[in-house]
Amino acid sequence: MKPVRALISVSDKRGIVDFAKELNELGIEIVSTGGTARLLKESGIPVREISDLTGFPEIMEGRVKTLHPKVHGGILADRSKDEHLRAMRELEIEPIDMVVVNLYPFKETVKKGADLDEIIENIDIGGPTMVRAAAKNFKHVAIVTDPEDYERIINELKETGEISLKTRFYLARKAFNLTAHYDAVISDYLFSIDEEGKKVGCRELRNPLTITFEKVQDLRYGENPHQRGAFYREVFVTEPCVTRARKLHGEKELSFNNIYDLDGALNLALEFDPVKEGISCAIIKHANPCGVALGKTPEEAYERALKVDPLSAFGGIIAFNSRVTPEAARLIVERFYECIIAPDYDEEALEILKTKKNLRVLTTDGLNGLKNRGEDSPFDYRRVVGGLLVQDRDLMTLDPEKLKVVTDREPTEKEWEDLIFAFKVVKWVKSNSVVYAKDKVAVGIGVGQTSRVDSARCAAEKAKLMGIDLSGSVLASEAFFPFRDSIDEAAKVGVTAVIQPGGSIRDKEVIQAANEHGMAMVFAGIRHFRH
Ligand code: 5GP
Repeated sequence: MKPVRALISVSDKRGIVDFAKELNELGIEIVSTGGTARLLKESGIPVREISDLTGFPEIMEGRVKTLHPKVHGGILADRSKDEHLRAMRELEIEPIDMVVVNLYPFKETVKKGADLDEIIENIDIGGPTMVRAAAKNFKHVAIVTDPEDYERIINELKETGEISLKTRFYLARKAFNLTAHYDAVISDYLFSIDEEGKKVGCRELRNPLTITFEKVQDLRYGENPHQRGAFYREVFVTEPCVTRARKLHGEKELSFNNIYDLDGALNLALEFDPVKEGISCAIIKHANPCGVALGKTPEEAYERALKVDPLSAFGGIIAFNSRVTPEAARLIVERFYECIIAPDYDEEALEILKTKKNLRVLTTDGLNGLKNRGEDSPFDYRRVVGGLLVQDRDLMTLDPEKLKVVTDREPTEKEWEDLIFAFKVVKWVKSNSVVYAKDKVAVGIGVGQTSRVDSARCAAEKAKLMGIDLSGSVLASEAFFPFRDSIDEAAKVGVTAVIQPGGSIRDKEVIQAANEHGMAMVFAGIRHFRH
């Protein structure tokens, strides 16, 4: 296909002057809309106004510019059909063989915090209509939606004088991908507000058909080198999270596994309010924490987290819920870690961390938006072959009103603190999970065993190996104990209090075991399975 006429109407005007200049030099007539026509003319490129082609003015502040049969007939005509050609002749419709369009910046307008009227004005109507029309008619028309493609098209035109069917098909696919995403983003946004434009909290699966993601980047590979990988994110999210995080340092690109573990580490660190509960440090290895602790300073939290399992921490990922200090940074660079993520860094801390070439340092740019956790990003996804399982994120926190002491003995104040700490940690450990905690340090973490008692045993054995004394510790389990065996195991190592959801048919037996051992037991009333 050798193009004769190109319609250019772009919001993103990157590269458009050079592209139009080349098209003009190749003898292609350029028809254009308001702002685009002005820019091209100012750059000395001969341009025909769209109103000249349609015989109709642009009206309603640009809401109606190209929505005209002379435009859509010119784009949509099937050049291989006599009837279409006859209609063009009779109605004086001029063929348009190339459409260069990108759309009003809807996403950007929302993100800059514009009001609803401005956002609505940035819903492009004529643009997607042309893009879809031209993409549908790819057998005869080239649809150019991405400035990145300008060079490729000019090169092809210069080399062959044509735009090949292969290229037109490539362009059409991209074009429908763009309009599909564009409308989906509008839909996502509208489902996040009420009719006045006020943000609505969302705790339900509202979008009836689709959920929208945008690509952040391709990844070197997936979970393993033989798997391809890419990173997508939800479009409008303001809470601190890995998909919004900025890399401050580290030459190596983030890997698929890095991003997954950064998410886990950050989620766990952000379970704790830095002001009310203390500064948290979480060290994650292969999706499970191997060190979690609270402290008065980041360095204290880090040291306490690390000492539980320094072996596993090697090559791990660290997250904090607070600004990283030079003291913490100095300790961190003594060892090998893949990544660190935190709301902020002291300047000096950053300089210290930068001495490690391969350590990726990420910031969430503060904790702003933390109180709205889950409002913008309410869903959790698990993949199954051919689909996704979608659920609400597990944002449930312990409700002190619902906690129920079920044993003869009440937990002491110190036990209470550790029980709550342990239950927050166990939420981020793969099931079956148990966590032993003492002085707000996770001193034993039992991860991902197929039976609960095995998790309890593994964690205790590991603690022993590390020379950690579990006596006086508390135990949290993410789901109920089906038998008394785990309680008996816990008693052997000196556990004094237990927290678990409750709800087993053998609760009585389990409570009795706790009473026999003089333990306090609390039913949390919520379960935190994590697969
Ligand atoms: P310009 O800066 O040339 O005035 O406007 C370019 C933008 O207008 C492009 O993003 C294009 O998608 C959009 N556009 C083109 N025709 C129409 C139309 O008829 N209605 C609306 N709402 N937008 C249009």
